[in-house]
Amino acid sequence: MLVVMDQKATEEQIQDVIRRIEKNGLTARPIPGGQRVAIGILNNEGPIEPGMFAGLAGVKDIVPVTRPYKLVSREFQPEDTLIQVGGTTIGNGHFTIIAGPCAVESERQAMTIAEKVKAAGAQLFRGGAFKPRTSPYSFQGLGIEGLKILAKVRETFDLPVVTEAMDETSFDQVEAYTYIIQIGTRNMQNFSLLRRAGQAGKPVLLKRGLMATVDEWLMAAEYILSAGNQQVILCERGVRTFVRHSRNTLDLSAALVVRNESHLPVIVDPSHAAGRREQIIPLSRAAAGLGAHGLMVEVHHRPAEALSDGAQSLHPEQFATLCRHVKAIHAMLGDAPEGRTVD
Ligand code: PEP
Ligand code: MN
Repeated sequence: MLVVMDQKATEEQIQDVIRRIEKNGLTARPIPGGQRVAIGILNNEGPIEPGMFAGLAGVKDIVPVTRPYKLVSREFQPEDTLIQVGGTTIGNGHFTIIAGPCAVESERQAMTIAEKVKAAGAQLFRGGAFKPRTSPYSFQGLGIEGLKILAKVRETFDLPVVTEAMDETSFDQVEAYTYIIQIGTRNMQNFSLLRRAGQAGKPVLLKRGLMATVDEWLMAAEYILSAGNQQVILCERGVRTFVRHSRNTLDLSAALVVRNESHLPVIVDPSHAAGRREQIIPLSRAAAGLGAHGLMVEVHHRPAEALSDGAQSLHPEQFATLCRHVKAIHAMLGDAPEGRTVD
């Protein structure tokens, strides 16, 4: 339920509404917005009696919220969320390109790739220090040493970094070093990790689970917002299907749906979706064409020698082509709302 206040409602009237909500054992969440003042009600198990607000001045409308997710929905907040990272803005009207290797393998490897992706147009650098690998015998990442290398990349190239927090044990370390904390696909429903991310003071990039529905994905984001962190970026990275021509299936329609359903920025990771280098540029163009807010792409200067995900890593020259193409598409389409579907 949303209580929409009159444009001219006073602060005192807003506080009266909040007090009334809390007196009924519910949580009131004022929603910032340029065009209206609204107060969301959370924690109600059943429908709320609109009569609860009878006699309160300044209340314009009582709007039921139909979605299971609240804070992430456009019903709660119609305006797009914009997230500032370093000098970059992520969200509507911007197209942010995050690039780098699957894993940080050495200082030299990270520096070499960072220099190339920056020159090609990446605004942020990616690289796993803690790697979720299917096999316990595969390279697991450099851990804290990898985080220190990422900090050097940031310093040397002025590239804010994105890296994954795989568990609560390593969360504090990752949070201390990174600019954006990534929650990986395998952890999308790790609810205690999501709550921890909700207490972080840094933006969170939440990947869609390998088989998650859009509702489940948005509910996972809701965990982070409801725990206090409003800065969440959603990332579509492909879901498991029966096909054999790609590692996963990039579900671009899911990216489009969450873009409409939620005010949070939505980016696309074609690398983990395709698993094959030759599909990455066309899929990236498609993502830019549908109005995604950015991309996360794996790049390696020597993909054949990469310790993980070499087959899907672009050569730096291919990444430069990708950047040119997607920037041209974004410039041609312009900003939403035209880019969004309208029902
Ligand atoms: C990654 O981006 O490093 C990664 C492991 O991706 P995902 O969680 O989507 O598999
Ligand atoms: Mn990878």
